[in-house]
Amino acid sequence: MPGTDANVIPLVDLQAQYRSIKGEIDTALQAVLDQAQFALGPAVARFERALAGYCGTAEAVGVNSGTSALHLALLAAGVGHGDEVITVPFTFVATVAAIEYAGATPIFVDVDETYYTMDPARIEAAITPRTRAIVPVHLYGQSADMDPILQIAERRGLTVIEDACQAHGAEDRGRRCGSIGRLGCFSFYPGKNLGAYGEGGAVVTHDRALAEKIRLLRSWGEETRYIHSHRGFNYRMDGIQGAVLDVKLRHLERWTEARRAHAMTYERHLAGTAAVPPRVREDARPVYTVYTVRVPQRDALRAALASAGVQTAVHYPVPLHLQPAYRDLGYGPGDFPVSERLAAEVLSLPMFPELEDAQIARIAGVIRAEMPVSASARDS
Ligand SMILES: *Cc1c(COP(=O)(O)O)cnc(C)c1O
Repeated sequence: MPGTDANVIPLVDLQAQYRSIKGEIDTALQAVLDQAQFALGPAVARFERALAGYCGTAEAVGVNSGTSALHLALLAAGVGHGDEVITVPFTFVATVAAIEYAGATPIFVDVDETYYTMDPARIEAAITPRTRAIVPVHLYGQSADMDPILQIAERRGLTVIEDACQAHGAEDRGRRCGSIGRLGCFSFYPGKNLGAYGEGGAVVTHDRALAEKIRLLRSWGEETRYIHSHRGFNYRMDGIQGAVLDVKLRHLERWTEARRAHAMTYERHLAGTAAVPPRVREDARPVYTVYTVRVPQRDALRAALASAGVQTAVHYPVPLHLQPAYRDLGYGPGDFPVSERLAAEVLSLPMFPELEDAQIARIAGVIRAEMPVSASARDS
């Protein structure tokens, strides 16, 4: 794994993060083992209260993945068979999988060329009498443009469910991602900016009745032991993950500020290269869960960085409307041109709180050597 070869700059370094909080984590894990509270339990309840406080919502419900969070949020919102849910094709596959798990059909609208999130101007045209919900994705840790999305939803009677799986602590006009729509969904997959030591997820909401429904659904629809008032799921959060997340949430703001500082350092060093840094929407607070630049000849640059010992990733190389598994949705090449262009040009560079300025300078140095650019070309 990353972090072993001193010359390699990993994309993410989870070993460095563990070393920095080892004492707290080990104590919290030992308590779970001593109490033998492995499914839900007090550590999960503590984390849920802390997460709701952090997001500014009345409730947070811990589940076993971000995908499960999306699935249960959709079900709690009443989305089901025959319904349509509007989302973007430029996201991780789970957004669309969850819509189908709920029995609904995903309807895509393209993202905007500057911020890579749902283009609100395209939503109205996608609404039909079957539309029930809109799922904007806060991609790469930057919020979607929520106000116009909320306005359309309000006018058309639709529920907004935020896919905040990459946006823990991100803000849009002072509101925490996840708390802006009716329901917000988080993933705690290890590589996210708040990551468990295994799988995890959560739904946050201001609506206590919806939270109660999700609590029921995550654990077999069981109101009383072995009495099933709803058809539910085994989507409970592990006690161990609750304990880890409760510890790590206390460090999240510090880690986020480190990520934001690294983003500024990257931006300074990338000036004069062909790599376009992420643009920040006015009044948004991105958290850089990943740090993704846009660059022509992405694959050549990626190979050069790899030879220089810099790990990178592509989030994501094929938009969902062109994925083999989703061919039967009936879309084809050219349907979402912005997503298609981005899929060919985005490149995620190393980003984690413990990253050092000298490492960022080294990464930018490789990019400048490979892909210098004149100022005029950069503005086009
Ligand atoms: C990670 C992610 C998910 C799914 O979360 P899991 O915890 O892996 O199930 C959903 N949507 C987006 C945008 C993600 O990045």
